[in-house]
Amino acid sequence: MSLLSVRNISVSFGGIHALSDISFDVPEGVVWGLIGPNGAGKTTLVNILSGLIRPTAGSIAFDGHEDGPWSMSRAVEIGIARTFQQTRAFNGLTVRENLRVAAVAGAGHALDLGIARRLGLEDSLDRVAGELPYALLRRLGVALALSLKPRLILLDEPAVGLTADEIDRMGALIRSMTADGVTVLLIEHNVRFLMSIADRVSVLDRGRLLFEGTPAECQRNPQVIDVYLGRG
Ligand code: ATP
Repeated sequence: MSLLSVRNISVSFGGIHALSDISFDVPEGVVWGLIGPNGAGKTTLVNILSGLIRPTAGSIAFDGHEDGPWSMSRAVEIGIARTFQQTRAFNGLTVRENLRVAAVAGAGHALDLGIARRLGLEDSLDRVAGELPYALLRRLGVALALSLKPRLILLDEPAVGLTADEIDRMGALIRSMTADGVTVLLIEHNVRFLMSIADRVSVLDRGRLLFEGTPAECQRNPQVIDVYLGRG
């Protein structure tokens, strides 16, 4: 059975069809990659799954909850957390305070410093978030989402702006999430990185689902090569 089931989701902004009739199923325990050209609708899909915007049509089921789409607070309550392209943290608060706000205020869980350790933030707990180096800020974004103890985490371009070593570290972290029972939906423009850690890949193009399959199948699909992989 799928953990996440997306059914016929469409959304328009004014005259723009950002998503048209999107359906897919994500089984539990996988890293599911989502790629596609700029403006394909990837972030819009994550915004819908996390309750930030409502679709014009369609439904979502998650972990026995059949009544989606949901509000943001309901999404967190049933176990869906996300990161953002630009990390959202309280810049004036320390790392520890940010993690506490996410865990305690965001989800009613106790502060779990094990998450800070896993993200390599244990030596930065008393640093103010707004003064963190970029790579640590990215990791704080992931730590904040994990503090909500999600069953599904939606990662919006976690590798962007990171060095090769930091990307490797992020990849290992993402793979370790599945070992802990967290399913991952990953938007990423770094195709090599995504293909190395994803179990399956969906390709969006201009709001439509163009392809779904394994990374190997994806990389040799002529349509995918034409609209995305062959560019640049
Ligand atoms: P990128 O890889 O550049 O982040 P994306 O695949 O995430 O792109 P989206 O950001 O989801 O694409 O955008 C999909 C389409 O919807 C684009 O045409 C975009 O301009 C449009 N769009 C997204 N959000 C809004 C909004 N709030 N109002 C109007 N148009 C929007």
